[in-house]
Amino acid sequence: MKAAPFQYHDPTSIDEAIDLLGKLENAKVLAGGQSLMAMLNMRYAQPDHVVDINRIADLSYIREANGALVIGAMTRQRDLEFSDLVRRTCPILHEAIQHVGHRQTRNRGTVGGSLCHLDPSAELAAMAALHNATLTVAGPKGSRELAFKEFALGFMTPALEVDEILTAIRIEFWPKGHGYGFLEFARRHGDFAVASAGALITLDAKGLIDRASLVIGGVGSVPTRVESAEQILLGTQPTQAVFEEAARACKSIEALDDIHAPASYRLHLAETLARRALAKALLSLRSDGEQ
Ligand SMILES: Cc1cc2nc3c(=O)[nH]c(=O)nc-3n(C[C@H](O)[C@H](O)[C@H](O)COP(=O)(O)OP(=O)(O)OC[C@H]3O[C@@H](n4cnc5c(N)ncnc54)[C@H](O)[C@@H]3O)c2cc1C
Repeated sequence: MKAAPFQYHDPTSIDEAIDLLGKLENAKVLAGGQSLMAMLNMRYAQPDHVVDINRIADLSYIREANGALVIGAMTRQRDLEFSDLVRRTCPILHEAIQHVGHRQTRNRGTVGGSLCHLDPSAELAAMAALHNATLTVAGPKGSRELAFKEFALGFMTPALEVDEILTAIRIEFWPKGHGYGFLEFARRHGDFAVASAGALITLDAKGLIDRASLVIGGVGSVPTRVESAEQILLGTQPTQAVFEEAARACKSIEALDDIHAPASYRLHLAETLARRALAKALLSLRSDGEQ
């Protein structure tokens, strides 16, 4: 099918984009178009106006600032994949991005587009949840910052007003040498994952886990940080038994039940992937891999 008719706008500054979004009725932001164009062509979305933000150069960058990675919303997914800064400072993000679609979709698809589309399986949304990233949103009243858990209101529903755009995402660094592991299950390479798990851990001088973050993607309506599992891990020796107990806690999260997989299967995957992601995180801690 072809998209319903719309008027096209291509602002060159954030202010101009916000001004257009404030003035125009039924407008939609266009970033990399990897989700929106399909939605337009299938007529799931029928905006009267499309505001293309690809010409806003200020929105595309990857920087280090005050112990954090700061990424502009229009940064292409492919640029994350090839960023040395990302690989050095946030290795799990480097690992996860390689599971996002295909090389061709990553060439166009943006970081901000993925976060705003907010598919429950999106790897970038899972990474934002795992790090409780801070998102910067610009609107007519200026900019505001919100934590990812405030941004992800529900199934494919970001906390954005119609006249706001996401401008940046900030991810605090974990200490150098932390353990990390990301895994997902998808039916075919490049498909959206049925489920994914990401884990970050650090150990204290006695070898006990003193910090842990565990996220499950694709299972609930938004990627879920499993705090009950993190609590099980804290203060313990990183053993297989502890990982199994923490992974079992992942079976208690909300799970979607749809044509792709029943809730029971998604929860089974959550447990299995969480256990393996934790084991992978421990392995990376013990290896001499570059971090
Ligand atoms: C074949 C294929 C396979 C894919 N596989 C995966 C996968 O495995 N994992 C995965 O995560 N994704 C996958 N995707 C989706 C891809 O990652 C998209 O890039 C992403 O979902 C949307 O990013 P985009 O830049 O293309 O945004 P667009 O498609 O342009 O926009 C998506 C939505 O976000 C809004 N939006 C975009 N940017 C902003 C902004 N800065 N502020 C406010 N609103 C904004 C738009 O209005 C629209 O509603 C796949 C896509 C394809 C075509």
